[in-house]
Amino acid sequence: MLLVNTCGFIGDAKEESIQAVLSAAERKKSGTVGKLLVFGCLSQRYMSQLPDLIPEVDGWFGARDLAPLVRALGCDPSGYPVRHRTDSHAYAYLKISEGCDRRCSYCAIPFIRGVHKSVPMEDLVKEAEYLAGTGVKELILIAQDTTYYGLDLYHKRSLAALIRKLSLIDGSGYIIPTLPTSLKMCWMKWLRIRRSASIWIFRFSTSQTRCFP
Ligand code: SF4
Repeated sequence: MLLVNTCGFIGDAKEESIQAVLSAAERKKSGTVGKLLVFGCLSQRYMSQLPDLIPEVDGWFGARDLAPLVRALGCDPSGYPVRHRTDSHAYAYLKISEGCDRRCSYCAIPFIRGVHKSVPMEDLVKEAEYLAGTGVKELILIAQDTTYYGLDLYHKRSLAALIRKLSLIDGSGYIIPTLPTSLKMCWMKWLRIRRSASIWIFRFSTSQTRCFP
């Protein structure tokens, strides 16, 4: 079985994704691959057209179709998503939300990823605890718009509350939120942290967030 994860954001990425799917389809035709599944942003964006264009693919799944994809792999999706690290870096990315409610005229993200959807805080804390337990020292919080975190689930912006919860995890590391440049100064003041080089860092294993000079 072969799974192809695709990107559908910019022209080059779309072309590369299509080439990867076509090359996988060739392998299927030659008999070296049994089943071919494609998922990710490209299939999400062009779901109505791709199945007719590349019929060798056995299943197309969108960017948020994790459960159907897991089912197609013959597994029970009730225990997913479960994160398993496949690297040994000292840092790890923590995706705190998906999608975007803005509609910048030049951007396809809202059409691909859908509306903004936060990951519940307790799930993020569990994931961060798992990562800290595997030796991760830096958590990089990512999303299409980190400043929207919590608006859908908690009806208020909750990035600061999330960072404070993450800072209680016993892991002796750092948390780095990615923020739009225009917002960095005000968030920095609000969170009472200081700037170190070009990043903002917080310490785990303290009762409150602390900054490093
Ligand atoms: S805020 Fe960012 S992700 Fe959202 S539409 Fe604008 S450019 Fe795209």
